[in-house]
Parts: sequence; C-alpha cells; structure tokens
Amino acid sequence: MLSECVVFESEASNLAIVENVENPDQLRVRIISESLPCIQNWRGKIVVVKYGGAAMKSAELKASVVRDLVLLSCLGLRPIVVHGGGSEINTLLDWLNIPVRFHDGLRVTDAKTMEVVSMVLVGKVNKDIVSRINCAYPGGSAVGLSGIDDCLLMARPSPNAAQLAIQHHRQYGGWGGGGGLGAERLILMTDVVGILEDREDPGSLVKQIDVKGVKKMMEEGKVGGGMIRKVDCCVQSICEGVKTASIIDGRVQHSLLHEIISFHGVGSGTTI
Ligand code: ADP
Repeated sequence: MLSECVVFESEASNLAIVENVENPDQLRVRIISESLPCIQNWRGKIVVVKYGGAAMKSAELKASVVRDLVLLSCLGLRPIVVHGGGSEINTLLDWLNIPVRFHDGLRVTDAKTMEVVSMVLVGKVNKDIVSRINCAYPGGSAVGLSGIDDCLLMARPSPNAAQLAIQHHRQYGGWGGGGGLGAERLILMTDVVGILEDREDPGSLVKQIDVKGVKKMMEEGKVGGGMIRKVDCCVQSICEGVKTASIIDGRVQHSLLHEIISFHGVGSGTTI
C-alpha cells in the first residue's frame, strides 16, 4: 500500500506546554528545521510497516497510524503497509460457524477458511485502510494490493501442509516473485514495547540487538509465542538486505513516527 499525501499540524496540547518558551509558529519552524538531517536520511527510502494486532484495535490508534503514514509519505519516504486482520477473520468465521483452528500458533487455513480470509483481508481490511488514508487528508493516494495481484506473494505447500494448508513462501517477496522490495527498514507493530529480555517483565526491553544476539535469545527460549514469527521475519529480512528491523509498540499513538524520526537511529522499541 503506497501513499502520497499532505498535512502537518502539531498537537495543541504539546504547544501549550511550551507556550511560555516560544510561540507555536516558532516551535513548528524549529521542529521542522531540526528534523532536516533525519528527513534527508530517509527521503526516497522504502519502509515496510507490518501493521496489525494492537495498533488496529481502536479508532484513535488507527487514525494515528494513518496520520503517521501520510506524514512519512509527505516527507519523501515510501511506506509499504503489510496489514493483518486476524481478529476480524475470527469474527466472520464465528458468524459462519466455521471452526477457528491454530496449530503451533499458525492458522490452519483450509479451503473454506481461505475464502473467508480472502473476503476479510482483501475485501474489507485492506479497503478500509486504503480509504482511511485516501479520505483522511486531501491528496492521500494509497493503493491496495493482495498477494494475488501480479503474483506479489508466492506460496508453496508447508511441510506440515496437512495441518496448515499453505505457508507463505516469501513473506515480503518482490513483485513478479523476483527479488526483494529493496526496503531500507522493516517495522513491525505489536502489543508489547519490543523484545523483552524477560517476557514477564515489561521493564526489560532490549533496545538494540544484532542478529547473532537475537538468535541466541531464541535458542535460550527467551522469545516465545507470536514473537517468534516476528523475530524470524526480522532476521530473514536483514539477511536479504534490509538495513534495520524494528519491533515497536502498536498500542502507543505515533510510535511509527517516533521510530523513524529518531536521531540516534534507535527508537522506542527494539532495533535489530
Ligand atoms: P501481535 O498480535 O501484535 O501481532 P503477537 O501476539 O503475534 O503480537 O506477538 C507478541 C507477543 O509475543 C507478546 O504479546 C508476548 O506475549 C509474546 N512474547 C513472547 N516472548 C516475548 C519476548 N521475549 N518479548 C516480548 N514479547 C514476547
């Protein structure tokens, strides 16, 4: 999903705090001016954002993600959104009395379930995100694609196909099934602050870690559940040429913007 759009406006509440220091216009000018090195660094670069779960739950969070995407696009970045929609799929499966089944954390997608997945993700969730981007701000122009379009995603039977039906062959594969997207960054939004050293302790955030380190954490069993797939995806992307992969907190408004507009290259979550 690509977007090209408009709009910049600072939060009124933030402006109030600094009212005595400088007036709102001076503040805006200073913030934009100071952001120049960061903006220059990212201009023209492709950023893949995995958007789902927590960040899709409330209208406020949806609006915040849309706003960040539009702003990033205005700043010259080329955001590509890979979205989820698991809970909406489960809701429709329930309505239709089709059993929701998971095996080792992965959805069992038989032919009937696949029809529903396609209806929900392609027909509903994708179009909802596209229309939010295109309607929210004048000039927003997102395009929604599915894995079927131009063979964007190639799939092959999983080794345990009997349980799962299909498995993604290249999760972020290129158009025509060829090479990668040439993305500079991969950002995955989740429902925790990032990778935790101790998954029971929200204060144990790992701010920065290399591929070797994160593989060691996996071997030691420190990474579990849905985080395993996310870390695997980050490691695979880095091996395929993505420069940095981050796992950030989708429950926090503007976490996406914060991740990219950070001068030290390390945002609020985990950077690999
Ligand atoms: P989402 O629904 O946002 O895609 P997932 O449920 O797929 O998120 O994955 C995130 C979950 O992974 C967290 O809620 C947490 O319970 C679990 N998890 C397991 N190990 C870790 C870890 N070391 N650090 C952070 N989260 C972890």
